[in-house]
Amino acid sequence: MRTWTRVAVPATLCGGCNRQLLKGDPVLLIDLAFLGGKMIHRVRCDRCEGPAPPDLPALVETTNAITPRPMTKFHPVLPLGTPLADFRARQSGEREPGEDG
Ligand SMILES: [Zn+2]
Repeated sequence: MRTWTRVAVPATLCGGCNRQLLKGDPVLLIDLAFLGGKMIHRVRCDRCEGPAPPDLPALVETTNAITPRPMTKFHPVLPLGTPLADFRARQSGEREPGEDG
């Protein structure tokens, strides 16, 4: 299979003329599949394999890094001076005012 793409990894070498290809240069990827064997990939630049198709899309930069976002609070923090819940008192049956029932 022969597909025209653009170089994503800089300093890729053309297999025909050994020219160093820069990022975004058009290249022809040739995939050779043999019966029972694994795929063999060949790279040819546009000078070796004729001109690249004019409608070849530009290189789309993709990254797998996580986009940093500011940290967000999920629940409000108790204001200063607020006593924490006294679980021993609550287990003994004491309830705060308004919690009876
Ligand atoms: Zn070449």
